[in-house]
Amino acid sequence: MKSCDVVLLGAGHAHLGVLRLWAAGQRPPGRIVLISPQPYAWYSGMLPGLLSWRYQAEDCRIALEPLCQAAEVELVSGNVEHLDARQSLVHLDSGQLVKGRFISVNLGGQTRLPPLQNPTLDILSVKPFSQFLAGWHRWQQEGHRSLAIIGGGPAAVELALALSNQPVGQELALICQGELLSQHPPGLRQRVRRLLALQAVELREHSQVECVQGDSVRVAGGRSLPYERLIMATGSAPLSCWQSSGLALDKQGFISVNPQLQALHHKHIFAVGDSASLPGATRNGVYAVRMGPVLAANLSASLKDKPLQAYKPQAQSLALLSDGSGGALLSWHGLSASGRWVGWWKHWLDQRFMQRHRIAGLPA
Ligand SMILES: Cc1cc2nc3c(=O)[nH]c(=O)nc-3n(C[C@H](O)[C@H](O)[C@H](O)COP(=O)(O)OP(=O)(O)OC[C@H]3O[C@@H](n4cnc5c(N)ncnc54)[C@H](O)[C@@H]3O)c2cc1C
Repeated sequence: MKSCDVVLLGAGHAHLGVLRLWAAGQRPPGRIVLISPQPYAWYSGMLPGLLSWRYQAEDCRIALEPLCQAAEVELVSGNVEHLDARQSLVHLDSGQLVKGRFISVNLGGQTRLPPLQNPTLDILSVKPFSQFLAGWHRWQQEGHRSLAIIGGGPAAVELALALSNQPVGQELALICQGELLSQHPPGLRQRVRRLLALQAVELREHSQVECVQGDSVRVAGGRSLPYERLIMATGSAPLSCWQSSGLALDKQGFISVNPQLQALHHKHIFAVGDSASLPGATRNGVYAVRMGPVLAANLSASLKDKPLQAYKPQAQSLALLSDGSGGALLSWHGLSASGRWVGWWKHWLDQRFMQRHRIAGLPA
């Protein structure tokens, strides 16, 4: 068994920020490990650009080894299978056990799936990204087929716009259970509906998917829609391993944390990003990134037995959605805009994020 002062679970957005700050000189003393199934972290904000051929894979991922080396953190390869909160023990799929005085969880979530009844169509979940991208490349080699994307949030919209901009056209539908982009201003919805229509994407709103049965998708009202391929982009669901962790969970099964980002009844365990549940915090990359500096400070303070900081979720966050052809759409505080200039702005922000986490001179 490996014993450490701090165990970081997952190379999510907040942990990347923690590593960056520690690499810049704020690392606390002690033995620290990061557990990740892969040697790099994918950046979701650039995934639509990768699918629409604007970026290469290397542009959209951050190499973990150089970042860990700079932060003096040991990178352990593996998938977290179980967390025992009381014993502060992490079980990896390799059989390895890792014990931490403090443990920080930044494992994201998993894609929600509808009931699957002997599905014969090909289904890809958008997360984990590495599996999604491998499946997408396989589909491209097999040739085009009719495709439906299930989901109505920004990620589903960005995927639909990116995939409608492929060199080889394909029949493409976007199916959402309620109104498209229901958390965003009406102006953004109108812009997106116009773009989807221009790109010949069939939009089906208020079509809750009840199940996937054989070769079709059954939506509320009893209609069956035949497709050959499905992409699930239905938002974050909690990882099932939290159920047996002993941690306090919210009604949906996410880890409940206090403003200091500590698990409610296990103060030596921190949780951030999509894995965590904190009133006022939305599950997206922007909030996960903002948790990073507070988490870094609180892990250091915990090791030194000093007072912790509170994370205050921002009231509003800027959403920038790629339009699949170099431009982007913007939603902020009830306002919306779109165009090439929004695309340039998004590109600049994405590049800045990537550069901050790359250690100069080392490849992605
Ligand atoms: C196509 C798409 C586009 C998006 N665009 C945006 C955007 O522009 N802006 C925005 O704010 N949000 C965006 N999102 C949402 C955003 O991706 C998530 O909300 C965000 O990634 C959550 O960050 P996180 O740090 O909690 O987890 P993640 O970024 O999901 O990181 C979790 C990490 O944990 C690792 N991991 C998972 N399971 C295990 C395990 N069992 N063991 C070990 N490691 C594990 C993963 O490999 C990953 O590195 C997008 C989502 C999608 C699908």
